[in-house]
Amino acid sequence: MSDPIMPTPEQMQRRLQELLRTTFAMPTSPSDPPETAVEKKSGIPEAIRGFTLTPREIKAHLDRFVIQQEEAKKVLGIAVCDHYNNAKVMASRDPAAPALEYSKQNVLLAGPTGVGKTYLVKHVAELIGVPFVKADATKFSETGYVGGDVEDLVRELVQKADGDVSLAQYGIVYIDEIDKIATSSEAIGRDVSGRGVQTTLLKLMEETEVALRGGNDLQGQIQAALEFQRRGKAVRETINTRHILFIVSGAFDRLTKLVSRRLKTAGIGFGADPAAAVEDAAGLMRRAETRDFVDYGLEPEFVGRLPVRVVCEPLAEDDLFEILKSSEGSLLRQYERDFEAYGIEATFHDEALRHLAKLAALEKTGARGLMTVTERLLREFKFCLPGSGAKKLAITPEVMEDPATTIAALAAEGREEAERLEREAVRVFAESFGQAHGLVFRFEPAAVEALLLKAREKNIPARGLCESLFKDYQFGLGLIRRNSGQSEFAIPVEAVDAPDRVLSQWVVASYRTIDEHEKH
Ligand code: ADP
Repeated sequence: MSDPIMPTPEQMQRRLQELLRTTFAMPTSPSDPPETAVEKKSGIPEAIRGFTLTPREIKAHLDRFVIQQEEAKKVLGIAVCDHYNNAKVMASRDPAAPALEYSKQNVLLAGPTGVGKTYLVKHVAELIGVPFVKADATKFSETGYVGGDVEDLVRELVQKADGDVSLAQYGIVYIDEIDKIATSSEAIGRDVSGRGVQTTLLKLMEETEVALRGGNDLQGQIQAALEFQRRGKAVRETINTRHILFIVSGAFDRLTKLVSRRLKTAGIGFGADPAAAVEDAAGLMRRAETRDFVDYGLEPEFVGRLPVRVVCEPLAEDDLFEILKSSEGSLLRQYERDFEAYGIEATFHDEALRHLAKLAALEKTGARGLMTVTERLLREFKFCLPGSGAKKLAITPEVMEDPATTIAALAAEGREEAERLEREAVRVFAESFGQAHGLVFRFEPAAVEALLLKAREKNIPARGLCESLFKDYQFGLGLIRRNSGQSEFAIPVEAVDAPDRVLSQWVVASYRTIDEHEKH
């Protein structure tokens, strides 16, 4: 006998479907395909088929945005061209033809923070038209991870490519802080997982198929299960990593010591390398070899998969100045737009840029220091100027160092200018009113002041105030002209408070003129 509480398998399935539909807003019938399903487009993406760039062109493009890092621009340009030219050739070949030997030009960028490493890669990806994702190596752990799965990065490429898997397969994955997962003998805790992450990365860098739906992606898993149920077969959608370009980077701050030690050891005895002793940090970095990275704690196979290595230089004060002044992506353009949104035209004097660069250099965070410093120095202006009537802000070091004075002066200037415009509006109203009705119509000076004051109190434009106060004046003034021949009117201050009373007094007086005429 069956348990009456236990639902039948059919009932269970219906309930499960209902639950999924309500919880995840997921379609459950074949006629209603899942919206989030990723369409696997076939064919080679246009970005790859039409790839014709040269390293020189890539560098020229990067020059527009990235200041310095000449070597990195060249090296990236070459690596990227080789990579995509190879991808293009492979894509157009007959799949049955024997495979061509090719080792992928994955790149290792070494250099301090904030010097443009990410910026370079992002612009390369944009230029070529391939998706780009970035993550810090420290957020991964080997399995079951806290922050995320290394494979998630590959899946993220698909999202960045708007679900276009074939384009995602040619994307760029950028992993920063790779030096932090080096398995140094000092950091035992990290060691195991650091090595694990390197191994997983290695697999991706070689060639592997990554499932489109990750183990952690519950909705994806359920969707896959539903599809399985619908089609009766599992559709395993995967992304192949063969043509994904991997770029890793890190500060590798202990590396210079390792290189210097190696050079010195080699220098003992015959064939000493005198240059080694005087080399600066960047110079030593440039001389780093595979074994130095291995000594640093990277797995030899992992370093081996990163054949292209280049050093990004620290940025000096002059470079930071140049970044502000001439990079197309300069932060200043953003500030100008921010102020412009409030009708304020902000201009930066060169001395101001110099001042910002100097302060930013002290922060020792590369170009990131520029953002911190600029934000701090312009904060008061961004808060106080919008809505103050200020129209122009000329930024000099003095202005930045004493915002209160400038803000007060600009606000006063703004008020004066606003008042001048209001005064002009009153004059124009009087003139056009007179013209429209064939009269000479003007306000006495005291009346103008009273109008401006009243408009300010009511918080309405002076012109609007005039229009409402004197809207019927033409009839009364017309009568007066008929009665007395007067065609010139100077509106006194009393008329601002009591326009109708003043007009009717005038009209009455004009009838008196007729009476007197008739008496004579
Ligand atoms: P990191 O080297 O740590 O990857 P980023 O590339 O993220 O640094 O730099 C942060 C920001 O600083 C960039 O978005 C860019 O605006 C600016 N920047 C950094 N380096 C340069 C540079 N060499 N030229 C122009 N702008 C730069």
